[in-house]
Amino acid sequence: MNDVLLVNASYQVLSRIDWQRAVVLVVTDEAEAVESHPTQLIHSQHLVIPFPTIIRLRTYRHVDHRTTRERRPTFPQVKLRDGRTCGYCGGFGDTIDHIMPQCRGGQNTWDNLITACRPCNNRKADRTPVEAGMRLLWIPRPLVPDDSDQQRVWRALGVA
Ligand SMILES: [Zn+2]
Repeated sequence: MNDVLLVNASYQVLSRIDWQRAVVLVVTDEAEAVESHPTQLIHSQHLVIPFPTIIRLRTYRHVDHRTTRERRPTFPQVKLRDGRTCGYCGGFGDTIDHIMPQCRGGQNTWDNLITACRPCNNRKADRTPVEAGMRLLWIPRPLVPDDSDQQRVWRALGVA
C-alpha cells in the first residue's frame, strides 16, 4: 500500500519504491511529486508534506528498453516527454513533428516524433532534418508505456 511509482524525467515508469525512499528523493529535490494522496500527510521532524503516490526524477536516467514491447504514443505524451520544448530551436513547442515525414513512411513512434514549435514545423515541412538543414537538439528516446502502472501515470497527468 505504501508503494510509490517512480517515473523518469520523461514520465516513464521506472519502478515502485517504498514511501520512505520516495520522501527522501523529494526532500533532496532529486524528484518532484507528480501525484500525492489527497488527504494523507507525512510529518517528519522539520516538515509536513503530502504523501506522494507518483514521483518524477528531475534528471533523465537512461534505461535499456530493448527487452520491452513498444507502444505508440499519443501526441500529448510526446509533448510531456519533451517538456513542451521545440526539438529544433528550444522554444515553446505546441506541435508534433514527424522526423521522417509521414508521406515518406515515417511512423507515429516515440523515436520518430518530436515536439516542435509552429515556425520550425512549417520550415521543415515534408523534409528530413538533414534536407531542411535543421538539427535536432536531442535524440528522442523511445518509451514503452505498456503496463498498468504507466497508464496510471498518464491518467494522473490527464494524457491517458
Ligand atoms: Zn522551434
